[in-house]
Amino acid sequence: MGRFDGRVVVVTGAARGIGFGTAARFAEEGASVALVDLDETAAAEAAGRLPLIDGAKAVGVGCDVADEVGVDAAIERVVAELGGIHVLVNNAGVTRDNLLFKMTEDDWDLVMNVHLKGAFLMTKAAQRHFVEQKYGKVVNISSISALGNRGQANYSAAKMGIQGFTRTLGIELGPFGINVNAVAPGFIATEMTDATAARLKLDVEEFRRLNAEANPVKRVGHPEDIAAAVCFLASDEASYVTGQTLYVDGGSSLG
Ligand code: NAP
Repeated sequence: MGRFDGRVVVVTGAARGIGFGTAARFAEEGASVALVDLDETAAAEAAGRLPLIDGAKAVGVGCDVADEVGVDAAIERVVAELGGIHVLVNNAGVTRDNLLFKMTEDDWDLVMNVHLKGAFLMTKAAQRHFVEQKYGKVVNISSISALGNRGQANYSAAKMGIQGFTRTLGIELGPFGINVNAVAPGFIATEMTDATAARLKLDVEEFRRLNAEANPVKRVGHPEDIAAAVCFLASDEASYVTGQTLYVDGGSSLG
């Protein structure tokens, strides 16, 4: 018996990286999973690779999390096709790194829109169902960059914003049987960090080695590390935990 048997889980930005790793872990533990991503073809292809348990289903849904009409339609489609919604993981993300004096208004707006407005719209659409059924779990993906990171004024502000959003919803939604928590990853080996290596003109393996060295546990993180924490917070074992941000960073944030 899996921890998520009979549950329907929505993961945004799930066509690859941390989102896909998280969707896969939920599937292994019995859930039906909706993988939301900008590109529906990529999301559907990823859905086809999930290790589903008998009777569970997966669907790929094309949706920009920053678009209210698209978000509302996506949530209603998930409820219709998978029979409900119990867990929402707000994972979709982008970076547009630059020092403040070179950062454009578009760089600022895109990062705020995807991370913060996206989490707001997705959670607002899901909570209608959560409140009605008096059950729901929201896990938001923050970042160690919330604590400050050179070249990421937009991303850092958005990721700390996610932590305030999480605390506030913990207060507002707790009385309705809804837990809201966040995971703040450190360096995770994905296409996002590979793109950062390319921007810094560093070889991907060298970039990962440098990040592993700078970390008390002396390795980089992988999507599975984040998936394990997200699944704990979305499980009934964590029903007394709400409004919290769990750093999953190999100790990088310890200073
Ligand atoms: P990733 O490999 O770049 O994957 C992000 C996914 O989100 C992509 O499939 C992307 O689609 C999708 N996406 C982007 N904008 C979207 C939108 N408006 N609507 C729907 N989907 C959208 O990134 P990752 O490394 O797995 O990161 C996942 C989350 O963890 C992000 O929130 C990130 O900020 C956070 N995080 C990552 C790290 C790390 O070290 N990797 C550390 C801390 C926090 P496209 O490819 O079509 O753009």
